Amino acid sequence: VLFYQPQMDMQSEQIVGMEALIRWNHPKNKLILPSEFIPLAEETGLINMIGEWVLNTACNQAQEWKNDGLSFNRIAVNISACQIEQADFVEKIKLALDMSGLESGSLDLEITESAMMKDVDDSRDKLRQIAELGVQISIDDFGTGYSSLAYLKDLPIHTLKIDQSFIRDLTEDVCENSIVSAMIQIARGLKLRLLAEGVETALQLEFLRKNNCEECQGYYFSQPVPAHDATDLLAKRKSFYPV
Ligand code: C2E
Ligand code: MG
Ligand code: MG
Repeated sequence: VLFYQPQMDMQSEQIVGMEALIRWNHPKNKLILPSEFIPLAEETGLINMIGEWVLNTACNQAQEWKNDGLSFNRIAVNISACQIEQADFVEKIKLALDMSGLESGSLDLEITESAMMKDVDDSRDKLRQIAELGVQISIDDFGTGYSSLAYLKDLPIHTLKIDQSFIRDLTEDVCENSIVSAMIQIARGLKLRLLAEGVETALQLEFLRKNNCEECQGYYFSQPVPAHDATDLLAKRKSFYPV
């Protein structure tokens, strides 16, 4: 099953995106988290089938929300390296858009640095084709995977998602604070959108807001929730700050 977690705009204090996060609804063991089965799915190649299902389900859900008049900009879908490697990766993206009727600008692919760099020439080529369709591309877990920043200028990237490890110690650790500030500067310089992952406290949120981080996502606003609860969150348009 797919759960969805809101991505919030700092200024409007409204939901701008929803990230689709998979769970395995196991008959005995209940909900199994992706960390327990995605690596195995990648090893066995099953990830391609799973990934295709995730992509199609998320695009259909997003279009359903749009049809119902719910306001948000984009649906974010996590993509693994094996999927990018597939010869028909670009076709699969086009197909998911065509079948759901979702406009390309409403789809955001979340890819980690390491997945993107596995075969950088092949990734660049495919991601450029995908970006030309109008699909957005985000770097997931930014700051954890790859030490060269040169690729940021070379690949068609729209958003950097600061990894939650940097957000976690934000208020106590001056060092962590300066890394996050530097990431915000990089994003601004390169005209990329910046989203902070794993925001759990008001203090973290305040720091990010003061430093002009544009978007954030985390338990502070909402955990990942099943589709019908995500629909409620979109419909309520509740303010960013809990009352
Ligand atoms: P990710 O894409 O970086 O997703 C963020 C993870 O952080 C999610 O864990 C989310 O539930 C969790 N999270 C969100 N806010 C907070 C917070 O405030 N505090 C803390 N401590 N955690 C927070 P989840 O759902 O267990 O997913 C883990 C990873 O599994 C994802 O990391 C992603 O890499 C992978 N994954 C999830 N769904 C899919 C999928 O459909 N396809 C692929 N290929 N990978 C997926
Ligand atoms: Mg992600
Ligand atoms: Mg992440």
